[in-house]
Amino acid sequence: SERLHIVGGGMAGSEAAWQAAQMGVDVVIHEMRPQVATFAHKTGHLAEMVCSNSFRSDDDEQNAVGLLHWEMRAANGLIMSAADSHRLPAGGALAVDRDPFAESVTATLRAHPRVTVETGEIDDLPPEGQWIFATGPLTSPALGRAIRAETGTEALAFFDAIAPIVHADSIDMSKAWMQSRYDKGETEEERTAYLNCPMDRDTYEAFIDALLAADKTEFHDGEASSAPDATPYFDGCLPIEVMAERGRETLRHGPMKPVGLTNPYAPQVKPHAIVQLRRDNKLGTLFNIVGFQTKMKYGAQAEVLRMIPGLENARFARLGGIHRNTFLNSPTLLDEQMRLRSRPNIRFAGQITGVEGYVESAAMGLLAGRMAAAEILGRTLRPAPQDSAMGALIHHITGGAEAKTFQPMNVNFGLFRPVDGLKGGRRGRKDRYKAYTDRAKAAWTAWLNQSALDAA
Ligand code: FAD
Repeated sequence: SERLHIVGGGMAGSEAAWQAAQMGVDVVIHEMRPQVATFAHKTGHLAEMVCSNSFRSDDDEQNAVGLLHWEMRAANGLIMSAADSHRLPAGGALAVDRDPFAESVTATLRAHPRVTVETGEIDDLPPEGQWIFATGPLTSPALGRAIRAETGTEALAFFDAIAPIVHADSIDMSKAWMQSRYDKGETEEERTAYLNCPMDRDTYEAFIDALLAADKTEFHDGEASSAPDATPYFDGCLPIEVMAERGRETLRHGPMKPVGLTNPYAPQVKPHAIVQLRRDNKLGTLFNIVGFQTKMKYGAQAEVLRMIPGLENARFARLGGIHRNTFLNSPTLLDEQMRLRSRPNIRFAGQITGVEGYVESAAMGLLAGRMAAAEILGRTLRPAPQDSAMGALIHHITGGAEAKTFQPMNVNFGLFRPVDGLKGGRRGRKDRYKAYTDRAKAAWTAWLNQSALDAA
């Protein structure tokens, strides 16, 4: 039968190749390293970990990424079995001995009778054949341009300017209120899309001081210049601390402008500044702080953001950042099978689909590999159950996320359908997380069993 071509042998491409080969499909992995380098990779191995050596929490009852580990192990994932074989002691986290890990993934795939590895860069989207593009955050510039030519400029980003994302149930609604600027919006959904946090002059001045003083991260060598358009900051995406450096009032005229809004708790007092948060998912469990992309280091960032009235106890689904990161506007471009709507012979997988992290990328490779292999074998894979971590993630990137504000996402419980009401009812957080993970494991196990039956 037809061969499956996978471009990029990173976390996602390696897992996709393994899953498809195990299903009986012949696979060619096209990996450009070591012939063509990236600024972050150091070796020619498949599945190289470019930065930290951590797969994060391994707690499959209280943590969404730990749950994803569990689901990938249950699906006989190669990335997880290699990580488990080369685990380093690190408390509750899964730390990995990176070189033996990558060497073992490489050796296993090279030894697989159905897998071929070809070294070389692919720089266009082939019109024929079954392809998975898993070229990651550092997709080569030539391929980046080819993808952009297909998707349009707006739909492929080369940097992510990430505004921090807050769990809705950690926002103090005795200070924040719901209102869109100038009460714009036709529908109830539009009118309830924004939350506002007011600041008086003293709070604003203290906030600007903290912002200017906070520790910031730098771009890596080569990070800015390796993007096809080579501009780290584009219009409308300046980090808030850079705006504050340009003038203490700049933010008050930008993302913190106090106009078109009335504080219901003090209608007669005009706030000096207002921080606006926008609903980040259809469930309404996550809100992003509008315009607050930042290069503040994580510790400093959480401290500074908790100075915002209403966010004193905020829990962050993800903190802000600006990195070189190639990613698609997946909610508009990909169908539920991760196929490019305009070119259904092409799938995407991994970080380029708008997930973030080694584990999430491998997870989306696992699903893409299975979907592509099923298609080649003349079957259709059932959609991953939405209550599983796998399903929650793929659902988010292919349709659950708001396309307009789409940003790369780590797996987190905010992506799951609530277990009992939006705010989790009266349950404690521990109970709630256990309920999420129990429900997920049952759904994922049932799906795996059903998929095996479908294949038999
Ligand atoms: P990758 O693992 O990057 O694999 C993509 C592969 O495609 C690469 O091997 C690349 O050489 C190849 N490729 C690219 N273009 C082409 C082409 N045209 N033709 C052929 N091959 C091509 N995640 C974490 O979880 N923790 C971290 O600490 C972390 N730190 C990071 C630091 C940096 C500087 C960067 C850039 C990313 C970091 N990430 C981190 C994100 C991490 O890179 C991804 O989560 C993960 O590696 C993505 O997996 P992937 O398979 O999508 O891409």
